[in-house]
Amino acid sequence: MHIVACVKQTPKSDQVKVDPVTGCLLRSGAASAMNPFDEYALEEAVILKEQLGGKVSVITMGPPQAEAVLRDSVARGADEAFQLGDMAFAGSDTWSTSYALAKGIEKIDAEQKVDIVICGKQTNDSDTGHIGPQISAWLKWPNAAFVKRIICATENFVRVERLTEDGSEILEMPYPCVISVVKDINQPRVRSVKGRLAAKRVQITKWTADDIGADKSKLGVKNCPTNVVKSFVPKREVCSVTVSGVTAQERGAKLVALLKENNCL
Ligand SMILES: Cc1cc2nc3c(=O)[nH]c(=O)nc-3n(C[C@H](O)[C@H](O)[C@H](O)COP(=O)(O)OP(=O)(O)OC[C@H]3O[C@@H](n4cnc5c(N)ncnc54)[C@H](O)[C@@H]3O)c2cc1C
Repeated sequence: MHIVACVKQTPKSDQVKVDPVTGCLLRSGAASAMNPFDEYALEEAVILKEQLGGKVSVITMGPPQAEAVLRDSVARGADEAFQLGDMAFAGSDTWSTSYALAKGIEKIDAEQKVDIVICGKQTNDSDTGHIGPQISAWLKWPNAAFVKRIICATENFVRVERLTEDGSEILEMPYPCVISVVKDINQPRVRSVKGRLAAKRVQITKWTADDIGADKSKLGVKNCPTNVVKSFVPKREVCSVTVSGVTAQERGAKLVALLKENNCL
């Protein structure tokens, strides 16, 4: 089994600052690390490798310093590492980022067939949760998001349990497929000494936009279909009403009337 885990280097703190004028993230000066959700994605990839054999590749799209997150991934059990780095990628939105990652995965797949791509649920900086489902759309591979458990992975399919708004559901997908995982899925291990040594030695494959055959009209800040118009923390307005009445029936009837009055029923 060949599993590709997508990992992103993000600021260590979850208190990411936003430029009030441009709406862009202020990343410079902030200490960085592996996006917390990606630790779970990578751990699940390593668990699958241990159970079924095969290998784990990791891929990131990012500036030269993002190499650190790939070495860290090897310390945590990955075997091969790929970095997409090119000025053509700079300022990409999620549509462009997922396109580049999909092209990178396509190239890895052409060299050694990929079975599962695993992403984290979201990042702690941009936090959109778009990338996993978008990669699957570009590749036309099936997708399951918010996966909390891999029930089984056989030669032909993987069965997963994913969180939904009101519970969970079980999906079965053929390979190749893309999943994004939530933190309930596992408990990431600590880096081993063997892993740390491998991380120092690993040869990282670096690809430009041309190397992955990407269409440059789909990449970078000038070609992104989205613009940050405004960035803000939404106000949460909580209001509560106490429904009084002597009996439960009376309170229930008042509640139903109130819901109807507010077009909720
Ligand atoms: C309009 C717009 C403009 C932007 N401009 C800039 C900018 O100028 N500069 C800038 O730095 N960022 C910019 N961003 C942010 C950048 O597009 C996102 O960081 C990137 O697309 C990933 O999205 P995300 O962090 O929300 O990932 P999510 O969708 O929340 O991440 C889900 C998972 O996808 C994987 N993943 C995400 N990103 C990567 C990656 N790069 N490599 C490997 N795996 C990954 C990880 O497994 C992660 O857990 C912009 C975003 C938007 C919407």
